[in-house]
Amino acid sequence: MILVQETTDWTTPNHTYILDDSRQYMHGYIKQGRADIEMFKTPIRFSTRGRSFHFIKKYNGMMQEDVKHIVSVQVEGSKGNKYNVILEDSKSSCDCTGFKYRGECKHIGLAREMLLYV
Ligand SMILES: [Zn+2]
Repeated sequence: MILVQETTDWTTPNHTYILDDSRQYMHGYIKQGRADIEMFKTPIRFSTRGRSFHFIKKYNGMMQEDVKHIVSVQVEGSKGNKYNVILEDSKSSCDCTGFKYRGECKHIGLAREMLLYV
């Protein structure tokens, strides 16, 4: 299974999903801005058509503890652009260009602040 964060540009909240390797079934998900993972008893059919995703990591049930500490947050930048930030205990990441080149950006700080209010 794999852990992916949705990065589709639409009005629906982008959650983080646990999908099987074929990306056709969802086994669970982490609600945007939340740290707890919800696993389904039976996988639900999932459609990736017209949506975009950011691959986070391979997931096997054994990593449940790790996953609990991953939070995905969407942050609005100063120009109104939306960035997807993933907060982990040890390392965090963002899909903006600043993070890509410098390995740090202000969105991660903003995401941490946002979490204080959810
Ligand atoms: Zn960023």
